[in-house]
Amino acid sequence: METVPFTAEEIRSYRHKAEMPMYVAMVILNVLIVIGVLVFGIMGALGYGPMAGELGERITELMTGVSDSGNNSLSYVILIVMIPVILIAGVYLVYAQYRANSIRITEKNFPEIYAFVDEYSHRLGLKKVPKVYLTQENGLLNAFSTFILRRQYVVLLADLFEVAYLEHHDIESIKFIVAHELSHIRLRHATYSYQLSILFANYIPILSTALSRAREYSCDRVAQHLVGTSGVEPMMALVVGKHLYKKVDVEDYVQHCHETRGFFVFIYNMMSTHPIMPKRIQALLKDQGSGRLFF
Ligand SMILES: [Zn+2]
Repeated sequence: METVPFTAEEIRSYRHKAEMPMYVAMVILNVLIVIGVLVFGIMGALGYGPMAGELGERITELMTGVSDSGNNSLSYVILIVMIPVILIAGVYLVYAQYRANSIRITEKNFPEIYAFVDEYSHRLGLKKVPKVYLTQENGLLNAFSTFILRRQYVVLLADLFEVAYLEHHDIESIKFIVAHELSHIRLRHATYSYQLSILFANYIPILSTALSRAREYSCDRVAQHLVGTSGVEPMMALVVGKHLYKKVDVEDYVQHCHETRGFFVFIYNMMSTHPIMPKRIQALLKDQGSGRLFF
């Protein structure tokens, strides 16, 4: 079993080539938005600039739907300062919810899963093995990695697990899903500082979803190198569900992938946080290089 940690060079080569340039652009836009709100907000409070007077009221009304004859520009400043605090409270509340409603994967609970969580964390060079929680959410097939202030954790929804584990004995697909989530942690997507650094820029359409798709491609690629499988099977589970995915003829599906084209497919992909499945599968089967973000 390969247990040598990836080098920084290897990790860099697995990352989607557009991910970091887009991230940097988003951070710059984020800073500009914060500066803009602070400057115009303070100026508005002092009675100058576009946020002062009637125009400021109109913008506020447009953005909040609240019509208020008072001076609102200062409330923007207060809000933008308060948002990081609100965010912290939010992430801890979500963490509390998952801790309250899940089982933690440990050496005793699902030890075979714990074993590869431990191995992958080591190979990814994570300082600590992230806590992994198993929970059920009424049939949803999903997994995600997320964060509290200083730590990250992974939540696995039990549905795919119970069938893959018990019916198909398909530990490889479970490995791929876990590896993908741990990759988000290694690539620092699931951190408070990352999310804060693009918090406002995330509201810019097209760019924010494109960056998200690039992140997904990056993590799929890292997961392939961790697990040593293509990762196509667990993707099929996302498409046709936990029971049927084993019955899909992947070759036939891939042939039909090329038919999933056209203007509205392009628009749909552009609006999506994850690459549409035909593109994602094609990227997985290519084994190297970056997936297609737009076309
Ligand atoms: Zn992901």
